[in-house]
Amino acid sequence: MSEKTIFKRIIDQEIPADVVYEDDLCMAFKDIVPKAPVHVLIIPKKEIATVDDLADDDAALIGHMWIVIRNLARELGLEEGYRVIVNCKEGGGQEVPHLHYHLLGGRKMSWPPG
Ligand code: 5GP
Repeated sequence: MSEKTIFKRIIDQEIPADVVYEDDLCMAFKDIVPKAPVHVLIIPKKEIATVDDLADDDAALIGHMWIVIRNLARELGLEEGYRVIVNCKEGGGQEVPHLHYHLLGGRKMSWPPG
């Protein structure tokens, strides 16, 4: 059996995280190395490694996560705007193989990202 990812261990409460939101389908917690004044990771509780691994019937889950992101942005005071990023696989800069959205805000974002 493959080893649990760090995010699965957070879901299973084996390691602590600064959780800002949780429901049956997903959770959100602060990034341990924030790249902006607000940097929250939103993850599904279902183990999905990457965007490439999404199944067609994950569509409702993903839609739900976007509503959670919208609500969190409001709650975290990001009225000026924010950025949502998903890195996909090593070439896309993904380090943790458990699907996650980065919600970044609280500073002006530059474009293009590196
Ligand atoms: P990725 O590069 O996979 O898109 O992003 C992984 C993110 O997870 C990074 O921004 C990294 O700082 C964050 N991270 C890695 N390990 C932990 C951890 O144990 N706790 C938290 N809260 N964030 C983590």
